[in-house]
Amino acid sequence: MKKYITAVLLCVLMLTAFVTGGCTDSPVQTQQWDVIATVFPAYDFARAVAGDLLQIKMLISPGSEVHGFSPTLDDLAAVQNCNLFIYSGGETDTWADEQFRSGNLDTEQFTALAMTSCVELKAIPAAIEEDMHDHEHDHAQTEDYDEHVWTSPENAVRILKAICDELCRLYPEHEETFRSNAENYANQITAQAQEIQKIVDNASNKMLVFEDRFPFVYFCEQFGLSHTSAFGGCAGNTEVSAATLNTLVKTVQNHNIPCVLYLEFSKMQTADSIVAATGCTKREMHSYHNVTQEDFDNGVTYVDLMKRNTETLKEALS
Ligand SMILES: [Zn+2]
Repeated sequence: MKKYITAVLLCVLMLTAFVTGGCTDSPVQTQQWDVIATVFPAYDFARAVAGDLLQIKMLISPGSEVHGFSPTLDDLAAVQNCNLFIYSGGETDTWADEQFRSGNLDTEQFTALAMTSCVELKAIPAAIEEDMHDHEHDHAQTEDYDEHVWTSPENAVRILKAICDELCRLYPEHEETFRSNAENYANQITAQAQEIQKIVDNASNKMLVFEDRFPFVYFCEQFGLSHTSAFGGCAGNTEVSAATLNTLVKTVQNHNIPCVLYLEFSKMQTADSIVAATGCTKREMHSYHNVTQEDFDNGVTYVDLMKRNTETLKEALS
């Protein structure tokens, strides 16, 4: 009996040590955020609606590659404690759906809003690399939906309004301000989209050529632009084969394309090769996934990036 009591006491002591040790070893940050957004567009739209009234956090670090992002324990604790979690709903944050499914993140405790749930989805478009390897594919890949819904200004307004609706439900005391902020921002987006439409309407060339990735299917469909790229969507591998480079060069030459486009954070290797082979120029077309630390510190907005893209399009469609 004595032995038994000793054993039980020992177990209790070990358990206590384990529990308290576990708590003190890994202090989990529980700062309260009103809104946590995984990627830049979601962060920007929430900020436009809420202004300074709410604490909003962008989960990815400025300047980092968003595809393949993996949350830390602190990130997960922050999401669990926020009120509204906004994510793309696609390949950049499949981790979120996995955390919901496994129950690691309890969605009873916060509202989760996927940007892909706010709009009509389109398939990832075929591109040169995929066309070349068509015989090896069963087309399953190209039938995946494209997650870059925010690249179309019309979709951006839809997502902005969905975010506004959720915030009004969660913070009814601020509804009037939120609705007026959202309307004002939607007007800015729409005005800039009209600028872009004018450029497209007056352009003789209506084809955009991208050096590797192509996350602009929603954008091109809204404005009636055609496109060529090495990869459809955001391929993990952006190494362009010699045959694909050759196809891109021929496309630029045959269609008299004045300017080849590359995405933010690109090393521009393929763009430089195309420029060297054809004498065209190269310019950045921002896809809004993430912004540089400098842009982030300066408070750059989706509309600011639209304006930069407008300048790029003036050259690319001339
Ligand atoms: Zn992407």
